[in-house]
Amino acid sequence: MSGVAARPADADLFATARAEAAGRDAADPLARFRDAFVLQAGTINLDGNSLGSMPRAVVARMERVLGSEWSKGLIRSWGGAGWFALPETVGDRIAPLIGAGAGEVVVGDSTSVNLFKCIAAALALRPERRVLLLQEDNFPTDNYIAQGIADMVPGVSLRAVKSTDAFAGAIDDSVAAIVLSHVHYRTALVEDMAAINRAARAAGALSVWDLSHTTGAVPVDVAGAGCDFAIGCTYKYLNGGPGAPAYCWVSPELIERTRQPLSGWMGHKTPFDFSFDYEPATAIRRFVCGTPQILSLAALDAALELWAEVDLPQLHQKSRDSTEFFIDLVERSCAAFGVTVQSPRDGSRRGSHVAFGYENGLQVMRALAAQGIIGDFRTPDTMRFGVAPLYIGYGDIVRAVAALHDILLTRSWDRAEFRGTTVVT
Ligand SMILES: *Cc1c(COP(=O)(O)O)cnc(C)c1O
Repeated sequence: MSGVAARPADADLFATARAEAAGRDAADPLARFRDAFVLQAGTINLDGNSLGSMPRAVVARMERVLGSEWSKGLIRSWGGAGWFALPETVGDRIAPLIGAGAGEVVVGDSTSVNLFKCIAAALALRPERRVLLLQEDNFPTDNYIAQGIADMVPGVSLRAVKSTDAFAGAIDDSVAAIVLSHVHYRTALVEDMAAINRAARAAGALSVWDLSHTTGAVPVDVAGAGCDFAIGCTYKYLNGGPGAPAYCWVSPELIERTRQPLSGWMGHKTPFDFSFDYEPATAIRRFVCGTPQILSLAALDAALELWAEVDLPQLHQKSRDSTEFFIDLVERSCAAFGVTVQSPRDGSRRGSHVAFGYENGLQVMRALAAQGIIGDFRTPDTMRFGVAPLYIGYGDIVRAVAALHDILLTRSWDRAEFRGTTVVT
């Protein structure tokens, strides 16, 4: 703590919270997973919704890939080390996390590129419809990719609504597809996926869901909820590493009729025939474009190993309980400084991060980062903290909120070192 003393009531509040956190951490059935990650003493990664911590298994795997598969195996490793099949074998590890079946998910390229493939594929399945229905507040890349497609494909236009409450009224027989996130990147609001899909289907529109903030935090059932296309990130709660390749799922009812426009040779039915005509591979392999990103896929494959042991309802329960604990403690200790809660209070409608409004939030987040407490900031005023259930404990949350409280109380965020701009917020 710095020079200014906290009020006794705050000291009591944090002492009580610390005791409660110790009890909850001791009883946490997921606590054993912390050891599966490389965590630095003194650093708390409350940005696992942006870049997850590194699983230990990745280190050993990369040593094998670099020390033998690539360096010694060379091209033989495409078959011998299973490289060629990695987009699908890694996809099979993700499938149970989203309610998909084996052979239905493929991994490769970025989330943005997979959005492009899926939106274009949806338009091709609805040639008589030319409108893409978006939420204004979608994660920007979703809307930018849709804009790029509208600029490229004659007749295609965008329709954007303020919130999904307006979705049902905005779906008519001109809408080819809706493009939407399941968990909102800023507020963590969880959408009612099944209800939205019902409305889309009733109007004859297809759905393209972005599960970037869902996978590895909030259980989802893409098949049961009636989705048509789903894509998502793997470097957030799945801990695949910076820029890890994204995944893509297409409903089994549609896949054999689906064509995606990035018809590269690795998604060809028989790439080594080197034939003139493109013929898509069967099933989801047709969503592979060029040569798979083997180093990234291998790291992701290793990062995903531990998920076979994770009980998803237990994970979701901890996510809800720990985000509620976080919100409650911030509200009780920091509301007096003008901090507001931007995430839903209803745990069933909240993903695994918490968002708070504060005018000087960017400086506050930089002051926290200087103490090893890593969160992030989203314009205009959102302080965002990811609570990854596999490696964040209740004690971490108390430490983070106590530091936040201290920074606000002493106004240490107002120092020169926390002003100015940064490349990434
Ligand atoms: C993180 C995120 C992305 C990331 O897209 P990239 O192409 O991997 O940069 C896309 N959509 C949402 C909703 C995200 O949260």
